[in-house]
Amino acid sequence: MTTDTLFSKIVRGEIPADIVYQDDTVTAFRDIAPQAPVHILVIPNEPIATAADVEPRHEPVLGKLFTVARQIAESEGIAENGYRLIVNCKEHGGQEVPHLHLHLLGGRPLGRMLAHQD
Ligand code: 5GP
Repeated sequence: MTTDTLFSKIVRGEIPADIVYQDDTVTAFRDIAPQAPVHILVIPNEPIATAADVEPRHEPVLGKLFTVARQIAESEGIAENGYRLIVNCKEHGGQEVPHLHLHLLGGRPLGRMLAHQD
């Protein structure tokens, strides 16, 4: 049995979200606190807790996350100028929701990959 998550509830329609794509294996929806003009989360419908929990059996759905992200980038009009895909993992990676997700961010120049540490 897999652990239920906040994002599982979005997949099942139990929590409202602005869903931009959904099929049998993948769901994509707009982030509730967008960090860029386009900020969409692309997730496997069946939760994988973190990137550290990925197994060979997950490879098909992980590949699907990227093809769906590419399609959404095109439909959102950010494909030509470019965008960023982020997967946060656990505490030091800044992961808040234990359901692996691809952040698709774009619509403005996104700056450096990591902020400077002063
Ligand atoms: P993480 O920090 O785990 O990589 O990213 C979690 C993301 O989920 C955050 O960007 C946060 O704004 C978003 N988020 C958290 N709760 C909700 C929610 O209920 N609905 C939506 N659409 N996004 C959420």
